[in-house]
Amino acid sequence: MQSPDALIAGGGLIGCAIARELARRGLRVLVLDRQEPGQEASWAAAGMLTPDAESVEEQALVPLGNASLGLYSEFIGQIEGETGMKTGYRREGALQVFFGDGAEEKLGQWLAAVRRAGFRPEPLGAAELRRAEPALAADAAAGALLAEDGSVDNRLLTQAVAEAARRAGAEIRAGEGVARVVREGGRVTGVETRGGKIAAERVVLAAGCFTAQIAGAERYAPTRPARGQMAALRPAAAPLRRVVRGPSYLVPRDDGRLLVGATVERVGFEKAVTAAGIGRLLGDAVRMVPALAAAPVVETWSGLRPDTPDHLPILGPADVEGLWLATGHYRNGILLAPATARALGEWIVEGRTSLPVEGFSPLRFATGVRDRDQTAIG
Ligand SMILES: Cc1cc2nc3c(=O)[nH]c(=O)nc-3n(C[C@H](O)[C@H](O)[C@H](O)COP(=O)(O)OP(=O)(O)OC[C@H]3O[C@@H](n4cnc5c(N)ncnc54)[C@H](O)[C@@H]3O)c2cc1C
Repeated sequence: MQSPDALIAGGGLIGCAIARELARRGLRVLVLDRQEPGQEASWAAAGMLTPDAESVEEQALVPLGNASLGLYSEFIGQIEGETGMKTGYRREGALQVFFGDGAEEKLGQWLAAVRRAGFRPEPLGAAELRRAEPALAADAAAGALLAEDGSVDNRLLTQAVAEAARRAGAEIRAGEGVARVVREGGRVTGVETRGGKIAAERVVLAAGCFTAQIAGAERYAPTRPARGQMAALRPAAAPLRRVVRGPSYLVPRDDGRLLVGATVERVGFEKAVTAAGIGRLLGDAVRMVPALAAAPVVETWSGLRPDTPDHLPILGPADVEGLWLATGHYRNGILLAPATARALGEWIVEGRTSLPVEGFSPLRFATGVRDRDQTAIG
């Protein structure tokens, strides 16, 4: 490829979705990933599409989460249509369930918080819960249905989006990490890799929790990892139709697996699964659906969520012309992929975005003074 119009650092779901969007808008796009693309958080996730899940803690995320959920069906239709690949997309809703003593009271508190964030969950009593999901434990006492929620097989989706990006004309290069953003006279001129400089007028940093390791990125994107451990069971018969959230969450897949997630741990970049982590998840799973006690555990893994100091994503232009960020999606990057891709596509090509991105600017972290004279930032 001659010099790309846009170079994207990071070939996870976010980088690939942006690559597809920009290529469809006529730009020559090059994605660089330091390893095989799509093997980090986008591979490790549960794939829940639940904008209400974190609404209690991160209300600022609700408008963008809702907007992205609203784009999802069209996005999946396009990706599956462009590639002929399946993504395991399901829109069966999600159940929030409270078990045992005090369930009604906990539901009341949860409903108040979620309604404050603008959601309209449908409260369900014990009998209704069991009608909705008969495998739930006998003491599933109170809960609510979030009818709009869904899930997607994030591993399949990430592969399909990468393929859609390639078919739209983007090049995705594995094994070539971005070490540094290079600029001259206040604008970006490319990036430095181990192989030397690659020129590009626009650079998008989308390297997940590793973004802060790229020289020139850390002042805009102080990303850090939040480890999540997960397990997959393969029950003899699918016990659940939809996502069920309780002390942990359960996510059914089309291939018969049932995912159990997830821990949230601040342990740096160490991707281990631990006895305590997996033990807790499996205990919760059996507590929620007792029949799972007999289900074989077919896989355990962990991944690193791209967290930020305020747990909100980092999206949009930096104060250096041609430098863009799309990272820090923390617990919601699968949900937020369609909206992120559209926002970056609109911003980069049209100069503005129609999506609700207030509060996510990379400049909120950039306290350092701009140094105009260096040829590299950082
Ligand atoms: C256990 C777990 C459960 C989750 N569950 C959900 C969920 O249910 N729903 C939801 O919406 N989200 C969920 N998430 C969050 C979601 O996975 C992330 O927010 C999302 O995948 C982030 O995508 P990304 O492309 O930004 O990052 P990643 O997928 O991490 O991709 C970053 C890419 O950048 C590459 N890279 C790193 N450094 C460089 C460099 N210097 N140069 C070039 N490339 C580089 C990496 O190799 C990688 O391919 C979960 C995450 C975890 C870990």
